[in-house]
Amino acid sequence: MSVSLDAIGPIAFIGLGHMGAPMAARLASCGASLRVHDLRGDLVERFVAAHGGIAATSLPAAVDQAAFVIAMLPDDAAVRAVMLGDRGVAASLPSDAIAIDMGTSSPESTMAIAADFARLGLAYVDAPVMGGVPFARDGTLDVMAGGGSGAVERCLPLFGVLGRRTWRCGASGSGHALKAIANFVNAATFIALLEAMTIGKKFGVESAFMAEALAAMCTGRQHPLEKKILPQVLTRRFDTGMAMGLIAKDVAIAASLAHALGARSPMADATRALWQEAAARYGAGRDQAEVVRLWEDGAGVEL
Ligand code: NAD
Repeated sequence: MSVSLDAIGPIAFIGLGHMGAPMAARLASCGASLRVHDLRGDLVERFVAAHGGIAATSLPAAVDQAAFVIAMLPDDAAVRAVMLGDRGVAASLPSDAIAIDMGTSSPESTMAIAADFARLGLAYVDAPVMGGVPFARDGTLDVMAGGGSGAVERCLPLFGVLGRRTWRCGASGSGHALKAIANFVNAATFIALLEAMTIGKKFGVESAFMAEALAAMCTGRQHPLEKKILPQVLTRRFDTGMAMGLIAKDVAIAASLAHALGARSPMADATRALWQEAAARYGAGRDQAEVVRLWEDGAGVEL
């Protein structure tokens, strides 16, 4: 590994779930000095045993000497609790440190938290990522950064280890806005393909053949087909490492953003409703690729 984070200062990493653990492991492998924290003590112990670092049993213990705090949490409520809650990040963050939310949060919530941090003289950066668990493992995520340009600049060495490219989006919340619309495209394309293939299957065309043909024809090569349908749906593996409820949340952020801005959003609204229906019917914690069941159960076929 050519990049070294030896000199960047201590990093507090909060949230060691599907994405957080491989991202923190990547930082550790580049020499970062880590303090890790999660509500689930078993995840913290497992991480420290495998990758080193210090297990922090509380947020203040993770944050009080940090140069950077990275949060990889499930949703707005968790981010707000960790950042601004009682004994949260803002209460013990050193004044020259930077708090970074790398999960997928809503831009409105991010702007509100960033404003509270600014009032306390603290820097807050939103830097959500595109790409799932395998991308997190090998440091090929796309990072979408929003926030003050000086603070984002200081985060670039970290983002360079976690991702293949950092997209500097602009002011606070703009990283989360880009992430929400990007995942809306992903989620809409995925279910459009599943719907198309279910119709084809119902007619009698073979699934693997359809996938190969769709990839090669003008529908084009694309992530949902190559990374989800071929390796996850047709194999029935259903272990992409991202829960259906998280995709439903992401699309809901994009649709809500459209409504708040007065932008027309019939596709985002329909996509949101379908992912929410799947999460309610099959379980928000089930793998995103199991969304296929909504179409399979309706048509009485299996892709
Ligand atoms: P996850 O549910 O696997 O992990 C979240 C972790 O946060 C859990 O270990 C949980 O215990 C911990 N946590 C929750 N509240 C906490 C709190 N108050 N204090 C400390 N720890 C707390 O979720 P994930 O799949 O890793 O996703 C995290 C974020 O990244 C989400 O916003 C998601 O939308 C986004 N994302 C996920 C993927 C993916 O493929 N899974 C890809 C890109 C972005």
